[in-house]
Amino acid sequence: MDTTTKRICPRCNYSGRDGDVSCPYCGLDLISGCPVCGAPIRVVFAKFCYGCGTPLDSSSGAASVTGSKPEGSDG
Ligand SMILES: [Zn+2]
Ligand SMILES: [Zn+2]
Repeated sequence: MDTTTKRICPRCNYSGRDGDVSCPYCGLDLISGCPVCGAPIRVVFAKFCYGCGTPLDSSSGAASVTGSKPEGSDG
């Protein structure tokens, strides 16, 4: 029985191996614990933290800053 915590990707739930730091698919940093309460992740395909219930999946809730608004005014 290995009680070591697992590292997963918050987006695609990629299960990191020993030495893995970033997700090879998304390039995101693998998390070994809940970013909110810090509870260690024991199951790879966890969608929600069992400690606080925060969604580990980044598909919803997280605000993404992307795209550029045509805010600049020329001249
Ligand atoms: Zn990923
Ligand atoms: Zn949590």
